Amino acid sequence: MTSTLVTDPPLDCPVCTRLVEFREGLQRDFPDWFNAPVPSFLGENPRLLVIGLAPGMRGANRTGRPFTGDYAGDLLYETMVEFGFAKGQYQARPDDGLTLTDAMITNAVRCLPPENKPTGPEIKACRPYLMATLDANPQVRAVLALGRIAHDTFLTALNLRKAQFPFAHGARHDLGTRNLLMFDSYHCSRYNTNTGRLTPEMFKSVFTSIRIDLPRV
Ligand code: SF4
Repeated sequence: MTSTLVTDPPLDCPVCTRLVEFREGLQRDFPDWFNAPVPSFLGENPRLLVIGLAPGMRGANRTGRPFTGDYAGDLLYETMVEFGFAKGQYQARPDDGLTLTDAMITNAVRCLPPENKPTGPEIKACRPYLMATLDANPQVRAVLALGRIAHDTFLTALNLRKAQFPFAHGARHDLGTRNLLMFDSYHCSRYNTNTGRLTPEMFKSVFTSIRIDLPRV
């Protein structure tokens, strides 16, 4: 990346008091874990930006790579490999050699929130990093929002009205700015798949739609 924009927060980012206290407790209890704001996972010149909610406790918060180490990553990376947005074999570790192709992955909130529920002020506090990530990658043409929070915070970052672009699984929105499309999916969490809210087929159909707008290069 050639940009000098600060796209990833410092590993000791002090902004969100509640999340910092949670992080420090985990640093004491699990000193071998990453336990810090998780940086984005980048492919080269990505056209697709995938936005998750926040690191999972035993996923990205433990391993330091988005969606790595928990169920959500199993489904996400399996699907991204199938659709040509990732290469290699996902083995749930940051050193598994998996690479992204034409894609990058980030989270709306970079620190682990208790019970996977960030507060409004925490989402707002982390939004500048999401915006800087987009600014540093002007070639991005499509955004995949995994869940409503990712959807909403991205619209807010772009000063767009949520009422104009309502969240719905499988929706495709032409945002009318920066030549950007946004696709919505329910989050690929274990909870959503266990409850049948999101099936692997439903998730794949979103990637099928993305591939219509972003054909393989
Ligand atoms: S959530 Fe974002 S802004 Fe808040 S402490 Fe973590 S990195 Fe900093």
